[in-house]
Amino acid sequence: MEKQVDVVIVGGGISGLSAAYHLHKKDPSLQICVLEANDRVGGRTLTVPLKSKDGTDYWDLGGQWVSTSQTAIWNLLKELGLETYPQFHTGTKFMQIEGAQVKSYRSDIPPLSFLALIDMQLFTMKVERLRKTIDSKDPYKCQRGKELDSKSLETFLKESLWTTGAYKLLEIVLRTDTGLDPSQMSTLSFLDGVASAGGLDNLLGMEENQAQGLKVKGGTQQISQIMAKKIGLENVLLEHPVDEIIQVSVYV
Ligand SMILES: Cc1cc2nc3c(=O)[nH]c(=O)nc-3n(C[C@H](O)[C@H](O)[C@H](O)COP(=O)(O)OP(=O)(O)OC[C@H]3O[C@@H](n4cnc5c(N)ncnc54)[C@H](O)[C@@H]3O)c2cc1C
Repeated sequence: MEKQVDVVIVGGGISGLSAAYHLHKKDPSLQICVLEANDRVGGRTLTVPLKSKDGTDYWDLGGQWVSTSQTAIWNLLKELGLETYPQFHTGTKFMQIEGAQVKSYRSDIPPLSFLALIDMQLFTMKVERLRKTIDSKDPYKCQRGKELDSKSLETFLKESLWTTGAYKLLEIVLRTDTGLDPSQMSTLSFLDGVASAGGLDNLLGMEENQAQGLKVKGGTQQISQIMAKKIGLENVLLEHPVDEIIQVSVYV
C-alpha cells in the first residue's frame, strides 16, 4: 500500500520516536511515518513484567537509568508524565576480582590496597584533565582527538595504571558501564562519554544527578510507547525494516 507522507523516520527507539514526537508537537499537520523493523517500539529499551511479592513489577532489560543532570531525557520524562525513583544502593556490597576472595564493604570505597586506591585517584585526575579538552559536539576537534581515537581504552588503562587491583576493578566497572570490553572502545569515545556525563564520578555514580541515580517507574520502554501513542499508533509501522534509502538531488 502506498502512502504519501512529509517525513519518514527509520527506527522506533527513543531517538526516532522523540524526533517524530517533537516534529508532531511543532506542526501537528505534518504527516509523519516511523518505520520500525522490530515487532515493538523501544529499541534498546525493553521492559518485561516480573512476578513480585505484591503482584507484578516491571523489569528493564536494556537502558534503565536516568539522572537529573541528563536534561533532555529528564524533561521528556516530565513531559510524558513518567515518574522516577532512586536506585537502591545502600547496605553491604560484595566484590570479587577474578578468582580472588570475595570481600564485603559498606562504604563507597572499594576494598583495594592503599596503593591501588592512590592509583585509582591519579587515574581519575588524569581522566578529568583530558575530558575537559573534549568538545562533545565535535570530539575530533580537540587537540589530541585523532591520537586518542586511534588508541584503545585497554591501551590507555594499561598506560595509565600501575597496580593490578586498580586495573582489574576499572576493567570490570567500565565493561559493565559501556557494555564493551576496553579493547573494543577508543579512548576518545570513552573520554567523550565522560565529558558528556560531566565527569567520571557522574558517569559511574549512583546519586540522583549521576548516571545510575534514578530508575523510571514502570520501566523505560514506556517512553517510546507513550510517544508512539502521542503521534498516533497508525503512524508507527512495526515489522517494517528499511532495506534501502535512495538519495535524490533536486535542482530547482
Ligand atoms: C543492556 C543495556 C543497558 C543500557 N543502560 C542504559 C542506561 O542505564 N541509561 C542510558 O541512558 N542508556 C542505557 N543504555 C543505552 C540506551 O538504551 C540507548 O542509548 C538508547 O535506547 C538508544 O536509543 P536509539 O533510539 O538511539 O537506538 P535504538 O534503541 O537502538 O533504536 C533503534 C531502532 O531502530 C530500529 N532499526 C534499526 N535498523 C532499522 C531498519 N533498517 N529499518 C527499520 N528499523 C530499524 C531498531 O529495531 C530499533 O528499534 C543501555 C543499553 C543497553 C543495551
